[in-house]
Amino acid sequence: MKKAIIIGSGFGGLALAIRLQSKGFQVTLFEKNEKLGGHAYSLEKKGYKFDMGPSLITATEIIQKIFNAAGKNMNDYIELMLLNPFYRIYFHDKTYIDYSGDSESMKSQMAKFNANDAAKYDDFIENSRVIYDEIITKGLGAVPFNKISTFLKFVPRALKIKALHTSFGLASKYFKDFRHRFIFSFHPLFIGGNPFRVPAIYLMISYLEKHGGVWFAKGGMYTLVEAFRKVLLELGTEIRTSEPVEEILIEHGKAVGIRTAQGVYNADLVISNADVNHTYSKLIPQGVLKKWNSNKLSKAKYSMGTIVIYLGVKKQYPELLHHTLILSKRYKSLIDDIFDRNILPDDFSMYLHIPTRTDPDMAPPGCESMYVLIPVTNLSSEIDWKLKARPFVNSVINFLEAEFDLRDLRSNIEVEEFITPLDFQTMRNSYQGTPWGMEPILLQSAYFRPHNRNEDIPNLYLVGAGTHPGGGLPGVMLSAEATETLIIEDFGNL
Ligand SMILES: Cc1cc2nc3c(=O)[nH]c(=O)nc-3n(C[C@H](O)[C@H](O)[C@H](O)COP(=O)(O)OP(=O)(O)OC[C@H]3O[C@@H](n4cnc5c(N)ncnc54)[C@H](O)[C@@H]3O)c2cc1C
Repeated sequence: MKKAIIIGSGFGGLALAIRLQSKGFQVTLFEKNEKLGGHAYSLEKKGYKFDMGPSLITATEIIQKIFNAAGKNMNDYIELMLLNPFYRIYFHDKTYIDYSGDSESMKSQMAKFNANDAAKYDDFIENSRVIYDEIITKGLGAVPFNKISTFLKFVPRALKIKALHTSFGLASKYFKDFRHRFIFSFHPLFIGGNPFRVPAIYLMISYLEKHGGVWFAKGGMYTLVEAFRKVLLELGTEIRTSEPVEEILIEHGKAVGIRTAQGVYNADLVISNADVNHTYSKLIPQGVLKKWNSNKLSKAKYSMGTIVIYLGVKKQYPELLHHTLILSKRYKSLIDDIFDRNILPDDFSMYLHIPTRTDPDMAPPGCESMYVLIPVTNLSSEIDWKLKARPFVNSVINFLEAEFDLRDLRSNIEVEEFITPLDFQTMRNSYQGTPWGMEPILLQSAYFRPHNRNEDIPNLYLVGAGTHPGGGLPGVMLSAEATETLIIEDFGNL
């Protein structure tokens, strides 16, 4: 049996471990943290359950395919609950849109703000569908983009379907009202991309939601991590948690294993699911990599950071849906502050996740499990998070209570935890504290993103948000498919 080592247990690492073990590889999975899941970590305190990272599931067929690869059925492992609407989006003027995949509901809500925009909804959705078909239905998301020819072949088609406009640019071609320009352009933020410069290719995410729905896993997102863990144990994968990899061992230009504090482990192939910058600059000796050398890595443009606040509240707020976005008056200039000016402004836009709205078991009876996610600048800024985080969190809670009118919020908080970009760096080795790696701008996407097979070491591979096609659950799970294809090309079916 060929021995494969996977470093990191994010969804990309877990999905690839299942795929390779099912194909006859003997996989050993190394994770630095106590539990599996990467950004999809969980937290439990005083009877409140929190998913620390991803909170919504889309493209369930991509997940189903991973279970199928192991001869299993997803529905035997997790229970998925469909959400409707997907989100309630509040604008600064207190107007809101219940965003869903239901065209009629969307058009009638839009018509109240701008009738012409509502009339263009179907055309916009049709354009998004064509982009989605190119990437998902035709399988480009799961095809390794290792050759410039694969990319060049896609360019004329991409131009024709307007996939190379910016996301905001494409939305603005169709819509005039600021609300509609926001709701049809913000999705790239889910994968760490600035809607004002990432290509409209990523608007396929919104069509992915419309096509397959937005789901929640009963018991929380972490149940999906546990389900993958169960499958891996059934398949016989060795899982080694609390064992950070310190070095990828390279001999004669090939990866021969890894080293941890516990010892050396040999392998026929090594795959890293850890942050790409961490993998290439900390786990491989300097000078080995020609393409992704330290100079190229440092010149790359990295995604935003985020602060996530977890609140256990002994009161319920039925006015908050399962997913609620609360937006600042500013869109572009706030995004500029976060991505380019690298400052921490006084205003913010936020995303609230209230799983108790769908699954009351996520908190004690009558209580609310809440998480508030605020995009912020990454660690390339001068911000001292040790000093700034607490006042910032206080101002978010003040805003929710005083301006958003969540009555008596502060006095009902029983659990309060938060993580900042600094925590992402220490907990998960996320370079610049961004969970999304390199920003998915055009020149850091597809062929231009670090390849699924390393460009210099033929049996070293990547999987996860840092490689093609990119971040988000669908992205990292598709990356497992792309990387598996290369491994099977290289080693054959065992
Ligand atoms: C707050 C937040 C909310 C999100 N919401 C959503 C959402 O709702 N829907 C969605 O689809 N996506 C969402 N995302 C994005 C999504 O969670 C990520 O893109 C995805 O989970 C990343 O998976 P990955 O495979 O890249 O691995 P990661 O999750 O990045 O995991 C990498 C793993 O490698 C480990 N590691 C690092 N270095 C080492 C080492 N030296 N040795 C051993 N192990 C190591 C880390 O500890 C970590 O466990 C969200 C992300 C965040 C942070």
